[in-house]
Amino acid sequence: MQLDTPVKELAGVGPRTARSLKQLGIETVWDLVMHFPSGHTFAPEPGLAGKAIGDVVTVVGQVESIWGHTGGQFKATVNPTNGEPSICITWFNGRYVRSLVGRGTWIIASGKLTEYGLTNPVFKIAPRREALPDCTALNTTTYPIVKGVTSKDIQRAIRQLPDSVWEQLPYHYCVIHLPRDQQNYDIAVAKIKYDELYYMQLGLALRQHHRDQEPTNVRCMQPMLDITQYFPFRLTGDQERVIGEIGHDMYYPRSMNRLLQGDVGSGKTIVAAYAAMLMAMNGGQTAILCPTQILAKQHYESIKGYFEAAGLKCELVVGPVRHGEPYVRQDIIVGTTSILGDIQWNNLGLVVVDEGHRFGVDQRATLRQHGNPHFLQMTATPIPRTIAMTAFGDLDVSTIKEMPPGRMPVETTWLRRPDNVFGDMLADQLRDGHQVYVVCPRIEALDDEMRAVEEVADEYACRFSTYTVDVLHGKMSQAEKDLAIESWVTGATSILVSTTVVEVGVDNPNATVMVVEGAERFGLAQLHQLRGRVGRGEHQSYCFLISDTDSTDGRKRLRTMERTNDGFEIAEEDLRIRGPGDLLSTRQHGLPDLRLADLVEDYELMLQAREDARVAVAEGLTDADCAELERRFGKNLLLGDVG
Ligand code: ADP
Ligand code: MG
Repeated sequence: MQLDTPVKELAGVGPRTARSLKQLGIETVWDLVMHFPSGHTFAPEPGLAGKAIGDVVTVVGQVESIWGHTGGQFKATVNPTNGEPSICITWFNGRYVRSLVGRGTWIIASGKLTEYGLTNPVFKIAPRREALPDCTALNTTTYPIVKGVTSKDIQRAIRQLPDSVWEQLPYHYCVIHLPRDQQNYDIAVAKIKYDELYYMQLGLALRQHHRDQEPTNVRCMQPMLDITQYFPFRLTGDQERVIGEIGHDMYYPRSMNRLLQGDVGSGKTIVAAYAAMLMAMNGGQTAILCPTQILAKQHYESIKGYFEAAGLKCELVVGPVRHGEPYVRQDIIVGTTSILGDIQWNNLGLVVVDEGHRFGVDQRATLRQHGNPHFLQMTATPIPRTIAMTAFGDLDVSTIKEMPPGRMPVETTWLRRPDNVFGDMLADQLRDGHQVYVVCPRIEALDDEMRAVEEVADEYACRFSTYTVDVLHGKMSQAEKDLAIESWVTGATSILVSTTVVEVGVDNPNATVMVVEGAERFGLAQLHQLRGRVGRGEHQSYCFLISDTDSTDGRKRLRTMERTNDGFEIAEEDLRIRGPGDLLSTRQHGLPDLRLADLVEDYELMLQAREDARVAVAEGLTDADCAELERRFGKNLLLGDVG
């Protein structure tokens, strides 16, 4: 039998079962074999010696007597072959069993021992003793299932696979489905997990190796120039350390591939500016790319002063890219992620991407076309360190934990609905000249979104009638958005009602209150991002999360927000509530699926696999490893980069 034989050709798999199996992704014998069980129950060797009530036991013997009750209960007394006393077996729904079992029938049965004997055991019968199977026939397997198919269906399909199928597969694939005992099963699970992690790490190690072979076009050989003199403040210890790490990377001929993670407001921008200036002083160009035009403009405004002071040329590119050679003399270009491939670069040495989650594999390929520049990705959604190492494998990670001096944690309150205390607090802040953000959940239909935002804006305009209220949402044109941001940042607007467009980047240190309407509709990371819009100056700031939700997860999220301001803690909590999801989706990183291994749970095993993979790459891959890599990754192994 071939591995690509459709499962519907197996005896006992009818069209209905086949349809249900398809929902589990099982269409061929290969898919069936790759549908790993979640556990087994093993029937022990027959005999009651040393067993206690509650243990699983197996009995082999001949039926001495039988009797039934109304209601379908059926009992049989079995005389065991090993000379132990007779034992009673009860089936509560025994009509069907009654038609099979009579006096003199041979039976092997396994189940939990109770004071009455065995109840509803798994069993096999035969007319003769020699015809009884051994106790492994009573092992049961639990599989992940959907409606319309049971674990038993899958077990039956697996058990009828001929040896010719198993012979085409590694030994432990057979063992994981049909193990002798628990130990046997555990070994198979560990082996399959290890292989998954090993080949994943081997793929990553190969990419890394491949990248090392492609030198970058600009090495920063100049010793650390005193760039920090152009900055208006002293860097924090963490910032110092991180610029050291970056300077070190950019000194070497292989291209840097670094993730800079630091909480909202921890001061990543200045680190990017440092890297760009170091690059410029070594003769290379830098692209600083942001997810939105709003953010690109803000970055440009906040850092162009440093560049100019150092005699460097920089330009903001938010409109259409001009063709010809207009950018060849620029040292630094700030723009959105879309401009990278459009610009004709002279000597692109460094690409910085802010909020790198939006930077995909395709764009990584674009980098190569520009001479393999150094790459720095920044994110304010900190990833727990262990996860980062595994998920990104060959990405180096720098972390800023220390906040710039003088920051006060944002005081956060979850309210079921706005109350007087809340109203007074807002009034106080407005009276002191501060500004207030109000964020509404994003809505699918832009028209509805606009209406929702405008409705909320009306409410606030009524309530705080002496202050200017403005709106910002997806229905507005770029020019309208720019104007709204402008009057917000200059202080002309006191209350800005918006959707999550303000989520990343908007920097207005005079804003001290963040109100989130329908807060249960936001994820933890998003709420933390939104809260990061306030508390950016020396003023005490406040965040109000408004939600009357009863959902358990929603409440957990809101409580977490009240409890902590620490982005790392929030990221870990998010992981606990939501599960790793996309963050750890190997698919998203261009890697094959992990079926059994779990990057969080099997962390130690992953470290071992990672080490082994590095050794294997250093010593040269075996043919078997190459074949297995191709089977798992397909031909795309070296196309994408991680990130
Ligand atoms: P994020 O990491 O969220 O991008 P920013 O780079 O926007 O943070 O920094 C937040 C604010 O902190 C900015 O106004 C920036 O000028 C200021 N800042 C950054 N580093 C320091 C520092 N070492 N000392 C004082 N202020 C700093
Ligand atoms: Mg930032």
